[in-house]
Amino acid sequence: LVSVSGLAKSFGDHTVLRSIDFEVAPGSVTVLIGPSGSGKTTVLRSLNALDVADAGRIRIGDVEVDFADRPVTKKQVAALRAQSGMVFQAHHLFPHLSVLENLTAGPVLAQRRDRDEAETEARQLLRLVGLAEKADAYPFQLSGGQQQRVGIARALAVRPKLMLFDEPTSALDPELVGEVLKVMKDLAAQGWTMVVVTHEIRFAQQVADQVLFLDGGVIVERGTPAEVLTHPGTERARQFLHRIL
Ligand code: ATP
Repeated sequence: LVSVSGLAKSFGDHTVLRSIDFEVAPGSVTVLIGPSGSGKTTVLRSLNALDVADAGRIRIGDVEVDFADRPVTKKQVAALRAQSGMVFQAHHLFPHLSVLENLTAGPVLAQRRDRDEAETEARQLLRLVGLAEKADAYPFQLSGGQQQRVGIARALAVRPKLMLFDEPTSALDPELVGEVLKVMKDLAAQGWTMVVVTHEIRFAQQVADQVLFLDGGVIVERGTPAEVLTHPGTERARQFLHRIL
């Protein structure tokens, strides 16, 4: 479903991604791990075209952008962005809209879909994340875990091909982490294609098909959770895992 090759990105003279290559099979879960500053978030933001890569190619579904072809047009950026839904570290819900309105804003305003149909689908998504009864609540009335679950439902509402998660549990109180991970496990079990940046190694062990270990803007190790997390081949990955486990 996803193919990334030669992806590179610098901010000024700071090279963040050197040459990133990976593929994501339909219905699979890819987990990105690595030290702070290794470039994990920038990979996700590049997939979602929030950051525009300097070089390399990204294909998601039938949309392909070659970043060597300059300039990258707004149309290309929009086409790439439309392929994926992104869930951020802290939710970015609209504070003045109800939960249901947060979910229908994208489908109705951006995708110009029928409002009734969008609402029906939004209510289904709220059931999926266990928040059917919160449709009329406002974000400030929800716990951090509930807000993140609404954030997941909102990302799903635009019917993306790919779901991107950027440390979705790292800003939560520990007792709220489980409910968000459970929703993500449910999505994985339903066959959603997901790319997840997380330090939740148990989640990675249970759910990932592929683990990519990034360091210094390159993928240093890749493989199954057993290969990368249980029997890492490089000293860098061993040290990193030792620190976070
Ligand atoms: P973390 O786990 O801390 O979120 P990360 O692996 O996700 O780290 P990135 O967020 O991708 O790393 O950032 C990689 C590097 O790029 C960091 O040194 C960061 O300071 C830098 N960086 C990211 N975005 C920008 C930006 N817009 N302008 C300048 N530098 C940036």
